[in-house]
Amino acid sequence: MIIDLSSIIKDYDGSMQLCQKCSFESTDFLGEEFSFPDGLLVNGKITNNTKSLQLQANVSGTVQVHCARCCKPMETSVNFDISEVLVRDDNADEFVDEDVVVFSGYTLDIDDIVINNFLMNISAKFLCKEDCKGLCPECGQDLNVSECNCSNDEIDPRWAALAEIMKNSDTE
Ligand SMILES: [Zn+2]
Ligand SMILES: [Zn+2]
Repeated sequence: MIIDLSSIIKDYDGSMQLCQKCSFESTDFLGEEFSFPDGLLVNGKITNNTKSLQLQANVSGTVQVHCARCCKPMETSVNFDISEVLVRDDNADEFVDEDVVVFSGYTLDIDDIVINNFLMNISAKFLCKEDCKGLCPECGQDLNVSECNCSNDEIDPRWAALAEIMKNSDTE
């Protein structure tokens, strides 16, 4: 989303409210794909404190990911705060640094800021449910749906003995 900063850039100690639903492209990060089917709500303000602009906002919405254990697509809600210092430099291309966001001219594209902050705020792994059993490493069966036979490879010796007896009695 492009924000028009022209009204605030020269208005020292002025501020402007920000409350907008923005759509975002899906993004890949560490092998996981994040998408935002309904966009994200960016709610906050930009204030001018003479030397720089300060962006403070809360971001909330729904993100579509895959469960880290069973790979099923799932949705989860996100909610995080953004606090960035915006510095204007007409000789530089817009970029997002660890400490500041540099922009030029009178507009700022906040997509990178929001996505960067989102990636910093996500918890390690998403799970479709806390006790997700995941996939069998042998056959790929979704163990939430049903058990597979891989874990039964080692037959209890007592059952093995019984099976032997049954086999023998069959052949008699
Ligand atoms: Zn799962
Ligand atoms: Zn299996």
